[in-house]
Amino acid sequence: MSIRPIYLDCHATTPVDERVLAAMLPYFTEHFGNPSSISHIYGWEAEAAVKQTRGILAAAINATPEEIVFTSGATEANNLAIKGVAEAYFKKGQHIITVATEHSAVIDPCNYLKTLGFDITILPVQQNGLIDLTELAKSFRPETILVSIMAANNEIGVLQPLAEIGEMCRDRQVLFHTDAAQAIGKIILDVQAIKIDLMSLTAHKVYGPKGIGALYVRRRNPRVQLAPQQHGGGHERGMRSGTLYTPQIVGFGKAVEIALAEQATENQRLTELRGRLWNVLSQLEGIHFNGHPQQRLAGNLNISVEGVDGAALLLGLQPVMAVSSGSACSSAITAPSHVLTALGHSEQLAYASVRFGIGRFNTQEEIDIVAKHAIATIQSLRKQATLV
Ligand SMILES: *Cc1c(COP(=O)(O)O)cnc(C)c1O
Repeated sequence: MSIRPIYLDCHATTPVDERVLAAMLPYFTEHFGNPSSISHIYGWEAEAAVKQTRGILAAAINATPEEIVFTSGATEANNLAIKGVAEAYFKKGQHIITVATEHSAVIDPCNYLKTLGFDITILPVQQNGLIDLTELAKSFRPETILVSIMAANNEIGVLQPLAEIGEMCRDRQVLFHTDAAQAIGKIILDVQAIKIDLMSLTAHKVYGPKGIGALYVRRRNPRVQLAPQQHGGGHERGMRSGTLYTPQIVGFGKAVEIALAEQATENQRLTELRGRLWNVLSQLEGIHFNGHPQQRLAGNLNISVEGVDGAALLLGLQPVMAVSSGSACSSAITAPSHVLTALGHSEQLAYASVRFGIGRFNTQEEIDIVAKHAIATIQSLRKQATLV
């Protein structure tokens, strides 16, 4: 097999950490029981493992274990939160507020609700990718039931001002949902301090397995009502039926446990690596740093490049590095990223963008190789452009 490119796409997914895999393996074969089986040890073992992860996740976000509802990932958690609240509260009001730079797993459920008659306000963002809190304040209405604003953006890494948003929602008795798929294990998330009512999580962005996530659903002050979106055996307190996927749940818990233990040192290491990459890239003219420079995920660097074609840029980078332009979910569509256009970029700049997602297993040596190749690629493309 030929040498594979350096993986720098950690916002799309991450490899499973060996420690996570080791924790999962016994739950496929030896401890294979159904956590809902209450009459024998196979069930008890599985239930104990699920309970342990519930405890880890709850502690990670300062919630209680009963407030964790397992799902297949953040997409499902977002759907359950948004459609579940809409269905449970539609008599109270039919207005929802969200943001232009949200993941499609938030935007699309909102657009779906629009077809059912809900009113959706989509807030713009400032040039740095953050929402304007005065814009948010202005968009509340008496019939607003939910605000859904992500914790960390999957393309440009910016961290929205959750504490201020939570405060504003609580003051107005509007529920606050946040998609924390990119944030869990990477920044401090405290649902009490930040006044979050619903929060979507996933394991595979934090070195856990794919296909498992969770929705935090507040049980006290206020008690959130949620209409289930999947009916069946009444698992997860009736909010999400389906046999729990014990191995994935064990992996999710282990992944979050490791990420929290290493969070401070890892964030520092990633910040240094990102700084190292940016220091080299920013020596070229016409390179834009996308998103707020400080209020962002440590491992995210997103740039737009003047004077090159976006597709040619990605093609030139490909042999050396696995990176994305825009989000992985929409990269099959050749439209510029909705996040980058929301920043006010021209179509050319939105197209000619690169997202570097630096992660746990990247080394300084890799960053140096990537930086060097990116510079050479951009210079060569610009040279070709001046020749024609
Ligand atoms: C990856 C991601 C999702 C989707 O999560 P899945 O677990 O893959 O369904 C949702 N929102 C954001 C911000 C993401 O980065």
